Amino acid sequence: MAQRIDRAASFGQNLYVDTRGAAGEPVPFTQAVINGLAQGGGLYVPEELPTLSLDEICALARLPYAQRAAAIYKAFNVDLPDEAIDELMGRAYGDNFDDEAICPITSLDESTHILELWHGPTSAFKDMALQCLPHFFSASAEKLREEGTLDHEFMILVATSGDTGKAALEGFKGVDGVSIGVLFPDGGVSDIQRKQMVTTTGDNVQVWAVRGNFDDCQTGVKHAFADEKFAEKLLDEYRIALSSANSINWGRLLPQVVYYISSYAELVAAGKIEAGCPIDVCVPTGNFGNILAAWYAKQVGVPIERLLCASNDNRVLTDFINTGTYDISDREFILTSSPSMDILVSSNLERQLFELTGRNGEAIRQWMADLADARCFRVDAETFRRVRENFSADSVDNATCLATIREVLDAHDYLLDPHTAVAYAAAQNLRGENPVLIASTAHWAKFGNNVYRAIHGIEPSGELPADVAALTGCELNKLIAEETDKHHIPAGLANLDTMQLRFTEVIDNDVEAIEDAAEAFLTR
Ligand SMILES: *Cc1c(COP(=O)(O)O)cnc(C)c1O
Repeated sequence: MAQRIDRAASFGQNLYVDTRGAAGEPVPFTQAVINGLAQGGGLYVPEELPTLSLDEICALARLPYAQRAAAIYKAFNVDLPDEAIDELMGRAYGDNFDDEAICPITSLDESTHILELWHGPTSAFKDMALQCLPHFFSASAEKLREEGTLDHEFMILVATSGDTGKAALEGFKGVDGVSIGVLFPDGGVSDIQRKQMVTTTGDNVQVWAVRGNFDDCQTGVKHAFADEKFAEKLLDEYRIALSSANSINWGRLLPQVVYYISSYAELVAAGKIEAGCPIDVCVPTGNFGNILAAWYAKQVGVPIERLLCASNDNRVLTDFINTGTYDISDREFILTSSPSMDILVSSNLERQLFELTGRNGEAIRQWMADLADARCFRVDAETFRRVRENFSADSVDNATCLATIREVLDAHDYLLDPHTAVAYAAAQNLRGENPVLIASTAHWAKFGNNVYRAIHGIEPSGELPADVAALTGCELNKLIAEETDKHHIPAGLANLDTMQLRFTEVIDNDVEAIEDAAEAFLTR
């Protein structure tokens, strides 16, 4: 018998409060998605969380993934009609993914399960959220327009160091009422990453290379966002507002809660665990979004016992979880073999702390002020106890990361990308009796250079042999595929060398150049 999940009867319209208690009246889901960041700098969280019974969770396995996601959105009382949620989820999780399961689980042994979150169009886990959020963003804007509280459209601007830009382009391309421009550092991304971005199809997309490094690129974009005159002009002349749709948007977090709930159902249905069996979840962590989503899934009712936080050499989160002090006052930014986890300020940690303090906005305001002023904050003893109760953490250096890729290939004939390898190695150190679900956040072919180093025992930043270094990213992946007998390279990565390079413009990194380019895009 089907266990239907209904809209939570225990609470009416589920509103969103902010982590600093500074934004005034709570807002519904649609407004939280459009606002992104709350006024006062805080992040939105739902006032109440639904709880699902074990039966309800396990019954999800009988539905296709899109319907599981729709059921969970309804349980969160998302303020859109049921039919709209069904329809948007159908578009988010369909044949844009190369596996019907959307995020299938590969088990390396009886108790080590790899959750493959990279079957979307850009082969990285950000697709799980960015194939979904844009549809809800567009529907939310339309709802607010109908209600008369919004009368403009949006331009998303994203500065990217690699993965996020392409995932955002693929997510927003063709979406009504939104255009998207992505800026990446000229010469600062891999051959694969650049080609992924500049070959994007669609009328509402634009990509620019920016002179300088990622920091220059990001600073220029931040200045454009802060320029009130520019905002006024865009609104007056084009009826357009800028938006970032970045990873602090609740609309990017909720799709991630979905896959942890869904995966548990999947493990039970496949007979890999008994219903009710506690599991640990290990996540390679950067901005703390993915692991926070697992914590929310636990609150909703998934029998997750411990959350294992895996860091690379940028180990600020591991140190925080182990000491209660978040300190970047004397910490250098390190370039690692797992670049999408290279981060110092982990923005979604704010939500986690808000929850673990029993939703104490005042404490959060103080800690965030300390972080801004002194580049350091320390949580109180009770909050630290709760952190320890939920999380364990470990950091994994580059050499261990690459050695792990090699070990897992030899032992299990399975090829990990460097981010997943960090999680795998951390899980080996931290795991106890429970089965472990490891979040796999990228296909190996996105990071062919480091995978090649791993397979050939070349040290982490060591030079590749000249003939290998001369290959394009696609050619290198083909070589690795032959050497390892891993012939499935996702379509979006395999054919990049034959696709038309649509965007070749290189612009300066100052705010005027970026604003001019954005405006030229609008008048295209
Ligand atoms: C973004 C990213 C991460 C980090 O995820 P967070 O949600 O920021 O913690 C890990 N791995 C890959 C491949 C990513 O692209």
